[in-house]
Amino acid sequence: MFLSGKRALVTGSTSGIGLAVARALSAEGAEIVLNGFGEEAEIAQLCDELRAQHVGADLTTREGCDALMDAAGPIDILVNNAGMQHVAPVEAFPVEKWDAIMALNLTAAFHTVRRAVPHMKEQGWGRIVNVASAHSKTASPFKSAYVAAKHGLDGFTKTVALELAKSGVTANCVSPGYAWTPLVENQIPDTMKARGLSREDVIDDVLLAKQPTKRFVQPAEIGALAVFLCRDEAGNVTGANWSIDGGWTAE
Ligand code: NAD
Repeated sequence: MFLSGKRALVTGSTSGIGLAVARALSAEGAEIVLNGFGEEAEIAQLCDELRAQHVGADLTTREGCDALMDAAGPIDILVNNAGMQHVAPVEAFPVEKWDAIMALNLTAAFHTVRRAVPHMKEQGWGRIVNVASAHSKTASPFKSAYVAAKHGLDGFTKTVALELAKSGVTANCVSPGYAWTPLVENQIPDTMKARGLSREDVIDDVLLAKQPTKRFVQPAEIGALAVFLCRDEAGNVTGANWSIDGGWTAE
């Protein structure tokens, strides 16, 4: 349990990738602060399971980010995972969706990092893991805000890594391709209906079209990568953007 005594905040950790990362860090002994929305009873159950604190702050606002960091206190491991998506042609992209995606997928990481770094620097150890995406390295049509925010998150992470290079604090991105989360699973029935395709065709020809392994990334695999980045042996891994995308961005 090499993370015993370490306190980890994972944003957007009431479901999907964030929850898997929180579980993986908890399994190594870290004390967990959960964040995100959901049913009260389900969140209470997660807090029980992980012996975690939950702070339900909305990270699309600066006030929400500050409230989260105030409630969380000093953090040794910060995982910026909360994110959202909207798909529309650029000329029809709802301005409020653009603003919300930028706020959650990019600006929230600035606010949590700026608040977390002083304690990490002072103690000479810290880990910042930003969940970006294959879309931090490559684009797809109709995802202008998401792609811009995730490319921005990559640049932000590299900058922070350079600033902290001598401090014992690392900052890296992990960049999944299509990951099997409730969000993705729930899209399948609608896509089958909209395109008149079978479940198998939706998975192979729509969701996994760009993923050479033809296999969804499992959230637990992303959790395992985050755990590796927290190891002392990963102390020289900083400013990196780790693809975990079944070969998508190798093409
Ligand atoms: P998800 O929808 O299952 O989980 C999102 C989490 O963020 C939930 O806990 C939700 O409550 C929380 N959240 C949403 N809005 C919030 C807000 N305003 N403030 C605080 N928390 C908020 O999504 P996921 O698929 O697990 O995605 C997690 C991250 O992984 C995102 O950054 C996403 O861009 C990235 N990602 C996902 C995939 C994928 O295929 N699922 C691929 C690449 C990258």
